[in-house]
Amino acid sequence: MGRLIVVSGPSGAGKGTIIDRVLERMENVKLSVSCTTREPRPGEVEGVNYYYITKEEFERRIEAGMFLEYESFFDNYYGTPVDKVHEELSKGNHIILEIDVKGGMNVKRMEPDSLLIFIAPPDLEELKRRLVGRGTETPEQIIQRTMRAEIEMQYMDQYDHVIVNDDLDKAVEEMIALISE
Ligand code: ADP
Ligand code: 5GP
Repeated sequence: MGRLIVVSGPSGAGKGTIIDRVLERMENVKLSVSCTTREPRPGEVEGVNYYYITKEEFERRIEAGMFLEYESFFDNYYGTPVDKVHEELSKGNHIILEIDVKGGMNVKRMEPDSLLIFIAPPDLEELKRRLVGRGTETPEQIIQRTMRAEIEMQYMDQYDHVIVNDDLDKAVEEMIALISE
């Protein structure tokens, strides 16, 4: 049976970058694609980054029990479709959920055998530099996300493992080692 792997950490810490490399290297690891009501960012692709749906459709799916977990923040909903998670686990694959800390805590409660990994930036200055460098958020969104980062960092202790992403190659190796344990 595959394992449910939660990856959280503040926006800009490098979660997406690390996960992409892990997926390239481990055939039995899949990524859960969440649903969101937020607008796609330039370059994001439907069904790859997210499934982009309306608020009404999201609420319909909540009612229908189609989410393993969901949260609402930055005025938008984000949720993990339950069907794909079950499908991959039953095939024996591991599945990564890249979700926020509240979602992570919910999954830990529901599925205590999950592996919870927190990706931390070396420090908040570097986090802000990476967010600015990524160039996908407005200055206002960068402020919002760095403020939220401090709250997210308070959940770090609740995670099974913390990977400090100062060196990308090292961080990728650490995650592969944890999943392979
Ligand atoms: P997240 O998914 O956590 O929001 P990203 O993976 O988008 O973060 O990374 C944010 C930015 O930081 C990207 O531009 C990425 O290329 C860069 N980045 C990721 N890891 C490192 C690292 N170890 N050192 C320097 N820059 C990094
Ligand atoms: P972004 O807008 O940068 O793509 O994502 C914002 C936050 O939503 C990130 O912390 C991301 O991990 C989180 N997130 C993405 N999908 C989900 C989900 O399905 N559930 C929860 N709880 N959080 C999610």
